Amino acid sequence: MDLAFTQAEDAFRAEARAWLRAHVPAAPLPSLETEEGFAAHRAWEAELAADRWPVVNWPTAYGGRDAGLIGWLLFEEEYYAAGAPGRVSQNGISLLAPTLFDHGTPEQRARVLPPMATGETVWAQAWSEPEAGSDLASLRSRAVRTEGGWLLSGQKTWSSRAAFADRAFGLFRTDPDTPRPHQGLTYLMFDLRAAGVTVRPIRRLDGKPAFAELFLDEVFVPDADVIGAPGQGWRIAMSAAGNERGLMLRSPGRYLAAAERLHTLWRTQGSPRDTRDRVADALIGARAYQLFTYAAASRFLDGDALGPESSLNKVFWSEYDIALTETALDLLGEEGEFADTEWAERYVFALAGPIYAGTNEIQRDIIAERVLGLPKGRR
Ligand SMILES: Cc1cc2nc3c(=O)[nH]c(=O)nc-3n(C[C@H](O)[C@H](O)[C@H](O)COP(=O)(O)OP(=O)(O)OC[C@H]3O[C@@H](n4cnc5c(N)ncnc54)[C@H](O)[C@@H]3O)c2cc1C
Repeated sequence: MDLAFTQAEDAFRAEARAWLRAHVPAAPLPSLETEEGFAAHRAWEAELAADRWPVVNWPTAYGGRDAGLIGWLLFEEEYYAAGAPGRVSQNGISLLAPTLFDHGTPEQRARVLPPMATGETVWAQAWSEPEAGSDLASLRSRAVRTEGGWLLSGQKTWSSRAAFADRAFGLFRTDPDTPRPHQGLTYLMFDLRAAGVTVRPIRRLDGKPAFAELFLDEVFVPDADVIGAPGQGWRIAMSAAGNERGLMLRSPGRYLAAAERLHTLWRTQGSPRDTRDRVADALIGARAYQLFTYAAASRFLDGDALGPESSLNKVFWSEYDIALTETALDLLGEEGEFADTEWAERYVFALAGPIYAGTNEIQRDIIAERVLGLPKGRR
């Protein structure tokens, strides 16, 4: 593995840095979890798209720059270092798009990807159900065959951003009589404003509707919105889940920038000795995660698939984020407890890291069984 960047990669980084310096809003946008903030973030996606920055690793035909995985990692480093806004299109870009690149039809890619890149269509992930979280294969929402498509019925929950999003993707049971729960599932895209869909926002501790429950009553979905073959949904969804936990969901750029901000905060608070080691750990951890990710990206570019080591990444970044934000709150003292400070908001979100994208208990089971080769635990 060669850690030196090419001239073209250095030039790409410099171009991204200059663009971000000229365009990142001077004041933070309103919270993404409010109607006003959602609209402001959607407008930011359009501004990124005007100069082809939202999805630098995608092919140019869909709005990208063909900059590859390394280009994406470099862009993310610059993006977070510049203090740019959170990405309202993240679910679509990091979860649905890789699935469509691997399993979608050319027609689906041409129809779905360009408006996803510009923020014109924002996607929500509709996997979890009230009785199907970690044990996702036990999901009960169903899709029943009808003329030219499928009718969806059932309930989904914890769907991030669905309160304001346009469309959703999720798994539905199309064959209730298979011997194993992982079989007979189909991966579908649907419109959140279609007849038969009720979106009920779920409010977070701070009152903002960061999630929603979806109630589906015979919602029509045309055949054109089935991803892959009917009945193959589990295999297709799992390739996307690897992407979520692995490279694309949380880039090292996010933590490198956060560790730098923590370091600055520590200095402005008088460099207290009792938090010195924790700040040093945050700086070292961000750098270690960066190098680990470069190594994974390098293996990926050499043709290796992203394997269960994605779970190592997920456990690392989620626990790292909590330690980093807790250190910031300790440095701020009472001032840090107010819910609307940047660090307090970040801390509340960090607490959810070990839960979303597959809980850390589940990730540890995967690491034990598939990375370390330990015997299967009791289920
Ligand atoms: C911030 C946030 C955003 C989210 N966004 C979305 C979204 O956009 N779309 C979506 O579909 N879902 C979303 N979710 C839901 C998330 O995927 C689920 O919460 C998660 O998969 C856990 O499922 P559960 O809540 O049903 O908990 P459960 O599965 O009931 O788990 C409860 C506890 O038991 C443990 N446990 C369960 N089974 C085992 C086992 N076999 N071995 C060891 N321990 C076990 C779990 O690890 C956990 O600690 C989001 C959640 C959060 C917190």
